[in-house]
Amino acid sequence: PAAAYDPNNIFAKILRGEIPCSKIYEDDWALAFHDIAPQAKVHVLVIPRGAYVSWDDFSLRAPAEEIAGFVRAVGTVARELGLVAPGYRLLANVGHHGGQEVPHLHVHLFGGQPLGRMIA
Ligand code: 5GP
Repeated sequence: PAAAYDPNNIFAKILRGEIPCSKIYEDDWALAFHDIAPQAKVHVLVIPRGAYVSWDDFSLRAPAEEIAGFVRAVGTVARELGLVAPGYRLLANVGHHGGQEVPHLHVHLFGGQPLGRMIA
């Protein structure tokens, strides 16, 4: 059984405008903002507007239109940041072993430098 969504998680508060963020992009499906503790020259988080705990929850429950909108938004953010030609990396941590800290689905977008071959 998947964990219930906690509407008081920090990204839910950012989506509601209760906590500020450094916004990069938003549309009907997604919001993108700078990570507060960047681990690369470019470190952006892209989150769906819908209430999903993780990639697992999203892939299981989200309507196809919402999945498509979110996936497209992630690509749009990377393009708008000029990351496509030099390249970039996407990462989604899921659960305890994945090191997920915030229980609202987020995709990390890293770039702006060579990223090496690390898996974690
Ligand atoms: P996770 O480990 O859950 O995949 O990643 C959570 C990410 O959210 C971390 O990289 C962390 O720096 C970032 N983060 C946590 N709290 C905030 C916040 O209040 N604002 C922003 N912009 N990023 C946050």
